[in-house]
Amino acid sequence: MTCSSLPPTPTTLLDLPGVQETTLETVLYTPPNDEIFDENPCLSCGVCCSHFRVSFYSGELSGETGGTVPVELTTQVGPLRACMKGTEQGEGRCIALRGTLGQPGIHCAIYPDRPTPCRDYQIWELDGSPNVDCQRLRAKHGLPLLPKRPLPAPPALPEHDEAA
Ligand code: SF4
Ligand code: SF4
Repeated sequence: MTCSSLPPTPTTLLDLPGVQETTLETVLYTPPNDEIFDENPCLSCGVCCSHFRVSFYSGELSGETGGTVPVELTTQVGPLRACMKGTEQGEGRCIALRGTLGQPGIHCAIYPDRPTPCRDYQIWELDGSPNVDCQRLRAKHGLPLLPKRPLPAPPALPEHDEAA
């Protein structure tokens, strides 16, 4: 979800069905240069926002409960659950997504107020590997696979004076 993203609500995007298995090992992508790491790949992708059912605890809704997610953009799907409109059945486009899938400029219209599944969904793993679901979804939409992201260099150790 354009999303660095999608916490501690009962459902995360990764729980949801529908992603086709793909043998990604056979589809290696080599970036032409390092520029890809200077950009946010999500801003020319957006496919996860048109794939998963984005449901979350209704306490995140704006209004009486004091949350941030605009209630008018959601559907109630249970006594304490809401879902972004358009994604109720999965494989549907979130109402808050703006732009064309896979094209530069696509973005979330409520990014600062997006629900926790969107905040928890991470494009990169801690070791710098791309999220395998991102890869599968991107491949499904004909987008280049993401390369492993270089990790930042560890901080230099302080130098110690040698005892005379
Ligand atoms: S599928 Fe991955 S790369 Fe594409 S918008 Fe979602 S998080 Fe970003
Ligand atoms: S609210 Fe919709 S458009 Fe925004 S990040 Fe979540 S799924 Fe994507």
